[in-house]
Amino acid sequence: MTEPLVTVTGGCRCGRVRYEARTAGLRSVVCACPDCQRSSGSFVSVAVAIKTELFRITAGDDALKSYADTGESGQPVHRHFCGECGSQLFAKPESYAEIVSLRAMTLDEPFTDPPAFGIFEQNIPAWIQLPDVTFYTE
Ligand SMILES: [Zn+2]
Ligand SMILES: [Zn+2]
Repeated sequence: MTEPLVTVTGGCRCGRVRYEARTAGLRSVVCACPDCQRSSGSFVSVAVAIKTELFRITAGDDALKSYADTGESGQPVHRHFCGECGSQLFAKPESYAEIVSLRAMTLDEPFTDPPAFGIFEQNIPAWIQLPDVTFYTE
């Protein structure tokens, strides 16, 4: 039995870039890898995985810019952001082309569910406590 899909929307800080995604449910991941830390300017980044074919840009395609980062796999991860306001919106890993990794806090509906899991816990300073998150290490 397939779960019904719900539509979620979101966008950047200035409102130029807007997206829409359909999903059976939002599951997020906390990532504290050096690339996410540097690009988000924060200790942790919370991302929600969406199937690529269920994701689309609904406005501001011309304002969208991307940076090809190099992921853990050694393959590029294209980090997309608004060229107008600089908001990080989503990443597309080439090694895992079937998903788009959305920055959770760019969703219109505040996303408050605890993350399904976390990675790179060793990069999180001790003063940040995430008791509900299970971290995996390689
Ligand atoms: Zn913007
Ligand atoms: Zn990361």
